[in-house]
Amino acid sequence: MTDYIRPELTTPDGHKKVLLHSCCAPCSGEVMEAMTASGVDYTIFFYNPNIHPEREYLLRKDENIRFAEKHNVPFIDVDYDKENWFARARGMEWEPERGIRCTMCFDMRFERTALYAYENGFPVITSSLSISRWKDLQQINGCGVRAANRYEGITFWEYNWRKAGGSARMIEISKREEFYQQEYCGCVYSLRDTNMSRRERGREPIELGKNYYGKENNDAES
Ligand code: SF4
Repeated sequence: MTDYIRPELTTPDGHKKVLLHSCCAPCSGEVMEAMTASGVDYTIFFYNPNIHPEREYLLRKDENIRFAEKHNVPFIDVDYDKENWFARARGMEWEPERGIRCTMCFDMRFERTALYAYENGFPVITSSLSISRWKDLQQINGCGVRAANRYEGITFWEYNWRKAGGSARMIEISKREEFYQQEYCGCVYSLRDTNMSRRERGREPIELGKNYYGKENNDAES
């Protein structure tokens, strides 16, 4: 895909300054390269209090910082606000993925992103979460728009990063950069559910910090 010519991105109202909520390096790699190619002036906002345990949180964050530094992209490292996340998740521990716990989780992350954007002069916010094929795009966009609507002058950019080969390039970039490959969505409940499903299929539980895209010993499922 080295001869791929990227189409120029059209940002909402032509604004070139964007605050990109990033969930991890694999999901943001393609989004970042697409924005860079279109001359978008973006900053990464890493606010993911859902990720559990802390070791996994740091693995994901450090990979994202490594790639941001490589591209000279500003990186806002927000608090690991996990007590607030657990407080908001109370009563939703057994909800399935793409259900109401995930709506809460996206709402929480995007509300903080929108607040930062409002206070720091970013007219547009968006999220790398949208590129993941495991996620419900409509659910993410609904949460993003709701968060942006809380603040005058803030727009959530509802771009489908998966289209036009975006999903394939996401994997290609992840392999090229040998990004850490997480094997569950992020929260303790998704870790529990993924391990339950693996057990049912006779697989070992997830080993944190084990798999990296493009490495020979990678035995991840996707
Ligand atoms: S499964 Fe993923 S999106 Fe849903 S609550 Fe857990 S971390 Fe958040």
